[in-house]
Amino acid sequence: MAYDPNNVFAKILRGEIPCKTVHEDEHTLAFHDINPRAPVHVVVIPKGPYVSMEDFTRTASDAEIAALFRAVRTVAELTGVSGPGWRMLANVGANGGQEVPHLHIHVFGGRPLGPMLAK
Ligand code: 5GP
Repeated sequence: MAYDPNNVFAKILRGEIPCKTVHEDEHTLAFHDINPRAPVHVVVIPKGPYVSMEDFTRTASDAEIAALFRAVRTVAELTGVSGPGWRMLANVGANGGQEVPHLHIHVFGGRPLGPMLAK
């Protein structure tokens, strides 16, 4: 799938839509989800134009890939979920339930999160 530069996370990266930033570095931006599913719900995204985990891990540089996963850990520490535990999730494509076509990793925490998936 070609990258759509008008997706909502691209607009956030360009500053066209506001967000509540948790962390930012050269390659990543992390911000609170607008519709949180847990007391802590942060979305971590690469700054580059990647639709999903598939094209990201196929075409991004090693530095970008390392930065994204390090940013996830940084977000867990900054939001205080590291000790009690947390969950990371990346939806991919239609069956994965991906709504925004810019790769993002959700970080959830702040309460026991229950089963991994609804049956
Ligand atoms: P997906 O279903 O694609 O994995 O997750 C997309 C997420 O983006 C959803 O949790 C949704 O609440 C969040 N989201 C959609 N639009 C916005 C927005 O404008 N701002 C923020 N902060 N989050 C958004």
